[in-house]
Amino acid sequence: MREEIKRLTGLQAIDQELRTQELELAKVSARVDELQARVEQTAAELEQLKTAERESALARRELERTLAEGEVQIRNKRMRLSLIKNERELQALGHEVEVLKESNQRIEAELLARMDGSEQSAARITELSEALERDRAALKQAQKEIAGQIEEMRTRLVTRRREREELAALIDANLRQRYEMIFERRGGYAVVAVKAGTCQGCRMRIPPQLFNQIQRFEAIHFCPNCQRILYYEPNKESEA
Ligand SMILES: [Zn+2]
Repeated sequence: MREEIKRLTGLQAIDQELRTQELELAKVSARVDELQARVEQTAAELEQLKTAERESALARRELERTLAEGEVQIRNKRMRLSLIKNERELQALGHEVEVLKESNQRIEAELLARMDGSEQSAARITELSEALERDRAALKQAQKEIAGQIEEMRTRLVTRRREREELAALIDANLRQRYEMIFERRGGYAVVAVKAGTCQGCRMRIPPQLFNQIQRFEAIHFCPNCQRILYYEPNKESEA
């Protein structure tokens, strides 16, 4: 049974290594996904901002045109003012000029507000463009990294899997299945030592009779509490 235990711990070491590699890979790909999402979000925001800015520029041009037209009208009306002698017509025209001036002032105010807004969004566009460039570079780097890791892992996995299968073939099929089930359910620890009478998987004290049996290596024993496969390992401190 010592041999069987040795095979099981060997199998466990390989399985743990495989598991660690998978977790590492998952971490890197999670980072790639996160960066990808960020890049897409920033790109969308940037596009939206640019579209709004283009529309705002058109609106500004339209306002400028209206303003210029208003000024021409005011000039013309003022010229006519100097030619009119009739008091009532004079008053009416004067009023028209006032109305036009007020309207132009409103347009000017709106134009100024739009210019301020445009300055702000230009700053935000620059900021976002830079952030996007940085994130794209980081994404590219992470993608390169993951490709490298996958390649490295693939080569290692081929060797490790072969070793695993060779080893697994030597272990009793029922025991192997049980081992695999415990490995999955107990966080990658299926075969653990009993040290100073305590299961190193769950820290429970093993009943003395079972502990004696485990030390004899005559059969495979399981922890009554966590069901892990147990083997005896002398406690060096207490023996010293
Ligand atoms: Zn246990």
